[in-house]
Amino acid sequence: MTEKRTEISSVGEFGLINRIQENVSLNNTESVLGIGDDAALLDNGDDYTVMSSDMLLEGVHFDLSYMPLQHLGYKAVAVNVSDIAAMNAVPKQILLNIGVSNRFSVEALDVFYQGVKAACENYKIDLVGGDTCSSASGFVISATAVGSVKKDRVALRSGARQNDIICVTGDLGGAYLGLQVLEREKQVYLTNPEMQPQLDKYDYIVQRQLKPEARMDIVYELAEMNVKPTSMIDISDGLGSELLHLSKQSALGVQIYEDKLPVDKQTYDTGFELGIDSTTAVLNGGEDYELLFTINQDDFEKLKNHADIHFLGYMKEPKDGNMMVTKGDNVVPIVAQGWDHYRE
Ligand code: ADP
Ligand code: MG
Repeated sequence: MTEKRTEISSVGEFGLINRIQENVSLNNTESVLGIGDDAALLDNGDDYTVMSSDMLLEGVHFDLSYMPLQHLGYKAVAVNVSDIAAMNAVPKQILLNIGVSNRFSVEALDVFYQGVKAACENYKIDLVGGDTCSSASGFVISATAVGSVKKDRVALRSGARQNDIICVTGDLGGAYLGLQVLEREKQVYLTNPEMQPQLDKYDYIVQRQLKPEARMDIVYELAEMNVKPTSMIDISDGLGSELLHLSKQSALGVQIYEDKLPVDKQTYDTGFELGIDSTTAVLNGGEDYELLFTINQDDFEKLKNHADIHFLGYMKEPKDGNMMVTKGDNVVPIVAQGWDHYRE
């Protein structure tokens, strides 16, 4: 008898996570929420303790030929803080594990940890531990961030209600196009090392790729304005995929308008230059680390003049599906083509 073999690519990253989740049960009463949101929730009296892990792998998530080690250290903290922010929580501690080969010097790791320290200071979070191993396959970084949120302030992916307004912070698609530019300049350099990379006119999108920020500023501002998002997720895999997470977990449809998508001019111009439609970069690119959230319509007045919050559309009935109204007034389905690690 031959053993059954299913390719991971046939179930995808989310299919794989679902399979893991199906075989997990939560046995400690403190474990309120496990797999399935941006972070887990542990009961801690008036608060939830919030925990989330993320990995960065050389050759998968970063290329050291253009990723400065200091930025990499910063990004390792920022992407973990972003998942804490996505629960409307405040980060407090981080554990950071590294796998590193003797290709790296002590000085190089000092530079990496300068970036870690800068991010910890910026997000007011303490590096409280980790693990150090030798690695035979490139630089491996894994971190677990721990945060806290008042129970009545937590924002889950599942909390959206029909007619809620879909909001997003910042601008989207830049990190993806920044990566395309860095890859292109690397190829130019490899072909002709005399050629120096020309990155000046791409400074903003390159920075979006190399030094993303978690939007803790928005978490604090929403608290000050007394607005509680009904649901929230951070944008690590592209807007399309994240909208589908909100839709699925809130059991609703979503409707967004293409002309409401926030795109920076440099993102738009670079997309045009590279033949990548900026809407495609917004929906399917990744690593913007902005916050996607929904609000009750009653809260719109408080946010409507915010310079960095954009209103994309509405939560609809489930039967309406997940749709985008294009600039040409066509209605097209939103599909998940975001960053799935096992997609072929
Ligand atoms: P995010 O993009 O917000 O980091 P992911 O898509 O990586 O979220 O993960 C979604 C959920 O699945 C999270 O709750 C995460 O903790 C969980 N998860 C991902 N991989 C694993 C794994 N190997 N084992 C257990 N849980 C996992
Ligand atoms: Mg997330």
